[in-house]
Amino acid sequence: MSEITAIRGMNDILPGDTACWQYLERSIAAVLGSYGYSEIRLPVVEKTALFKRSIGEVTDIVEKEMYTFDDRNGDSMTLRPEGTAGCVRAAIQQGLLGTPQRLWYAGPMFRYERPQKGRQRQFHQTGVESFGVATPDMDAELILLCATLWRQLGLVDCMELQLNSIGSADARKAYRAALVEFLQVRVELLDEDSQRRLHTNPLRILDSKNAQTQAVLDEGPSLEDFLDDEAEADFARLCELLQAAGVNYVVNRRLVRGLDYYNKTVFEWVTRDLGAQGTVCAGGRYDGLVAQLGGRATPAIGCAMGMERLVLLLMERGEAPAAPAIDAYVVAVGSDAQCQALRATEELRAQKPQLRIVQHAGGGSFKSQMKKADKSGARVALIWGEDEVAARSVTVKSLRASEGERAAQVTVALRDLETTLCAALAH
Ligand code: ATP
Ligand code: MG
Repeated sequence: MSEITAIRGMNDILPGDTACWQYLERSIAAVLGSYGYSEIRLPVVEKTALFKRSIGEVTDIVEKEMYTFDDRNGDSMTLRPEGTAGCVRAAIQQGLLGTPQRLWYAGPMFRYERPQKGRQRQFHQTGVESFGVATPDMDAELILLCATLWRQLGLVDCMELQLNSIGSADARKAYRAALVEFLQVRVELLDEDSQRRLHTNPLRILDSKNAQTQAVLDEGPSLEDFLDDEAEADFARLCELLQAAGVNYVVNRRLVRGLDYYNKTVFEWVTRDLGAQGTVCAGGRYDGLVAQLGGRATPAIGCAMGMERLVLLLMERGEAPAAPAIDAYVVAVGSDAQCQALRATEELRAQKPQLRIVQHAGGGSFKSQMKKADKSGARVALIWGEDEVAARSVTVKSLRASEGERAAQVTVALRDLETTLCAALAH
């Protein structure tokens, strides 16, 4: 029978890698906790209309990347391509917006994209959202929290913060009109994607990687000249706060985001160490979205980190913790030995829950059990044979001893097991 494999772009995360994921997840949760953010857990599937109304009908995500299907009742559902829409939906529906909220969530997201390094169809994000504060001190807080995290993860010197302000919806509308007017008469100079976007999502053209398109844009209108006074003042204050906090940044006037709901501050944390998929965290202000989704007008700002890209970065920079080794492997030959070993091992785990102890299962001779102990990578074998059972003792044998101390093994009374094992492991 042919083998059934995973869906393209939807990866297994293997045991050798989960230590790094857990480390990253723990570090993020700790930093977010230290800034007073609370976790919210959200469904993976939402009504399709939620994403159409928030992300925008003519964005790449909604046009061609969503996993959308009818359920058995004929209602259109979508596997979430991002987390902000669901978080806003929940905040409105659950009445969380009466006071400022600092929230975070984590989990899988789904986009039908071309899989490559750092780009999957099922990927994971940790998102951070803050509701109810319109002033740029909140923008600074969100950025600072990221900077703190990079510092803790040992990634601070490979991250660049890019910042921009895209202004109010009106400013963007005016700029959009000017940009389209400018580009319309130069349409044949643009790359194919940009030509298509000219009539659907022209701001995305600023994002183009094509050198000729970028050269055309150099001559065109600048978003900066269209910014309203409030956006300009907020941006200046944000820059001031970041300087005061010692966070370096680069102003990138072409930085726009692929989702329609952003206004004012947008930012990306970019690294050069991952090739083309260099953006590891992206976000911005979205003051209009809550009202757009039917809630009372509430200012908001958020960002999302790409977990796969952060894991890759940790691994490439040698900052990923190794998978933890097994401390002890329990070998017990014979039925009585197995009973005694079982009891002693349970007790040991209760006393020292941080130890990783594997109890041999599946029977077999002393020799074959010892082979498995060796293969497990354990540092120590705890051995119960006939002699040990009769004497209520146990043999503690070092498996990773160097040539000279090869015979490092002692037989001790059961009550001395814990101290003997700890001493052997401390070696
Ligand atoms: P990109 O320009 O790389 O496509 P994006 O602008 O579509 O990113 P966002 O929607 O802002 O990305 O998502 C925030 C972060 O989530 C990204 O910066 C990235 O780290 C991560 N991310 C987005 N799409 C994917 C994907 N398909 N696979 C892995 N990570 C992703
Ligand atoms: Mg994308």
